[in-house]
Amino acid sequence: MAAHGKYPHLFSPLDLGFTKLKNRALMGSMHTGLEEAEGGFERMAAYFAERAKGGVGLIITGGISPNPEGGKGAKLSNEAEVAEHRQITEAVHAADPDVKICLQILHMGPLARGGDPVAPSAIRSRIASRTPRELDADDVEKQISDMVNCAVCAQKAGYDGVEVIGSAGYLISTFLVEKTNQRTDKWGGPFENRMQFPLEIMRRIRAAVGPDFIVIFRIAAMDMLQGGMSWEEVVTLAKKLQEIGVNIISTHFTWHEAEVPTIATMVPRAAFTQVTGRLRKELDIPLITSNRINMPDVAEAVLARGDADIVSMARPMLADAELVNKAFEGREDEINTCIACNQACLDHTFNGMEVSCLVNPRACHETILNYEPTGRAKKIAVVGAGPAGLAYATVASERGHQVTLYDAAPEIGGQFNLAKRIPGKEEFHETIRYYNRMIEKQGIDLKLNTRVDAEMLAVAGYDKVVIATGITPRVPDIEGINHPKAVSYIDVITGKKPVGRKVAIMGAGGIGFDVAEKITHEGKSSALDVDIFAQEWGIDFKNHPRGGVTGVEPVVAKADRDVILLQRKTTRVGRGLGKTTGWTHRITLARRGVKMLNGVEYRKIDNDGLHILVNGQPETLDVDTVIICAGQLPLRGLYDELVEKGVDAELVGGAYEAAELDAKRAINQASYLAAAV
Ligand code: FAD
Ligand code: NAP
Ligand code: SF4
Repeated sequence: MAAHGKYPHLFSPLDLGFTKLKNRALMGSMHTGLEEAEGGFERMAAYFAERAKGGVGLIITGGISPNPEGGKGAKLSNEAEVAEHRQITEAVHAADPDVKICLQILHMGPLARGGDPVAPSAIRSRIASRTPRELDADDVEKQISDMVNCAVCAQKAGYDGVEVIGSAGYLISTFLVEKTNQRTDKWGGPFENRMQFPLEIMRRIRAAVGPDFIVIFRIAAMDMLQGGMSWEEVVTLAKKLQEIGVNIISTHFTWHEAEVPTIATMVPRAAFTQVTGRLRKELDIPLITSNRINMPDVAEAVLARGDADIVSMARPMLADAELVNKAFEGREDEINTCIACNQACLDHTFNGMEVSCLVNPRACHETILNYEPTGRAKKIAVVGAGPAGLAYATVASERGHQVTLYDAAPEIGGQFNLAKRIPGKEEFHETIRYYNRMIEKQGIDLKLNTRVDAEMLAVAGYDKVVIATGITPRVPDIEGINHPKAVSYIDVITGKKPVGRKVAIMGAGGIGFDVAEKITHEGKSSALDVDIFAQEWGIDFKNHPRGGVTGVEPVVAKADRDVILLQRKTTRVGRGLGKTTGWTHRITLARRGVKMLNGVEYRKIDNDGLHILVNGQPETLDVDTVIICAGQLPLRGLYDELVEKGVDAELVGGAYEAAELDAKRAINQASYLAAAV
């Protein structure tokens, strides 16, 4: 077959001898919560089959436990469970017989929730709620044979292989690192002993499943731990794994307890692939790389420079099941790009909720949310081209409705046009690009610079008017709120109003934090430069000390401004931010010298600054600027007027409910409503 013109590396097959991958695009492992949900296997079958149809070459399932000690989630260890898993493998192979699917074997060890967490030593992880029980010699043997049994069950269930996770702070990785393995028997002591646990597992798995079964090991190539694995240890382990018949090494770059962001939106695209590239030079078997590879050109560049043989994209496959086919067919501008927000995927996982995707609410809901052609096309006006209006308009139009989309602004995107200006949120541009393309492709009648009113809509004869007019910033009722020192976050982000050297930010929600980031940021965004990112988070890619971070101090320039972030609540400032990303924002701002204060009562703003009460004591913050980030109110006057005129109108997004609104809720609500209209 001739090489693909634009992505020759991404679309070249990979021959493993006994089997072949049709391309180099892999869907990485993600726990979705469907593993444990009622009817979850049927839903997973549809979810994976859609990705198989979408062109990916190899799929890795979410982590499945080999035994109860491995985690209270889904387990694969007996015939009944084999039968359940067959639903997945049959659906994937029916969707495309050339697509391979491997089961990930995940023993959570000390991070297992519920039950009886076990570990090589009774050492509690920073992020675990309990101290694990130390495995005795018989227990170690049991864990090994349970993992082998799980691999055999996977083979019976029709999987093409298994991936064993040996990273992230789960059981296997805790054997490898000295600070979590203090054993004095044959499984502890020098690295030679510590690596015997994974080697024994992989050796016995290979013997049990035979040669014609894909066996992958996921290694923490840079674990981001102070005192983590050294580069020499990583290379030694990888070479031994190769020797004993592992087919592919998948590189991972973290333990969950590490204090370095590795997949959040401020991480540059493909930031870590250089580590895989270095390991690849030491081995003869193929290597998988991952982390923040979200578009085909990024994947192609990684492969072309020899950093890896296979590129793993996990969250990007939630955002767009057809990513690979779209790349193959030259339809990259139609890709709904993962913006690395974590809001509907990882945040859900860590909050014990089912996973979906902010930009694609169908993800993991393939049997629930479908955009079927309508039997009765309606003439629909959508007012407001923010996330809610865009989702409604594109879904309704895809289903065959005739849609006119209005916005008062000169461009689509609504508040995403503010979000994209925050350093580290550059990915938000992609969502706007995607919707622009969908509007063009579907022939939606887009009317920008058009502020509509009820009169005009009423006479236009629409069957339905969807009000997606969003929000208006809340203006707190305090003395001096109109003082020249008081400015709205919108004027700050758009650069319409200057910001002084001494600043108070009133309100510490997502927008308060984003504004603090913007006004304390200097120079290029670290999301666009791997060297700046590495410096800010204390990673030494070049010398690779233990874990990549041992002894490396983060270098963050103190901001030129004195900034204080305020809230009335007495809870910790930033507590409401995303579970998996909030800590990165708190750390970054603290390193820049931003102060945070809770339990504040606002009194007035005047020439002296912002007057507050803290614990009942008056205080005056001598500031030049007070930026108001005090939440929002729905903008729905138009809706009330339309209803009065008897027009069939519907509210969506911020216009429906501004409290606790985010783009996840706006897009989700709009998509469900448009799927039903
Ligand atoms: P909007 O985005 O406000 O869109 C409303 C649109 O209606 C606007 O384009 C407006 O011009 C138009 N309009 C209003 N009245 C009329 C009229 N009469 N005629 C025509 N057009 C009209 N959310 C997240 O989930 N994650 C984030 O990381 C995140 N970061 C953010 C960062 C910043 C700085 C900001 C400001 C917001 C952020 N948000 C984030 C919030 C998110 O952008 C909003 O929740 C989302 O945009 C709400 O969507 P919406 O469509 O309801 O309203
Ligand atoms: P928000 O998260 O609701 O925060 C509003 C802030 O204003 C809070 O700190 C609140 O805290 C304060 N406040 C509320 N009423 C006030 C009043 N009358 N006077 C003074 N302060 C008041 O809203 P937001 O920051 O405007 O963000 C809007 C939405 O965008 C959020 O829901 C958020 O999810 C989303 N967003 C998300 C991200 C992200 O990274 N995921 C980033 C930006 C925005 P106190 O009442 O305690 O003072
Ligand atoms: Fe990507 Fe956000 Fe969707 Fe997760 S929720 S897949 S991070 S866009």
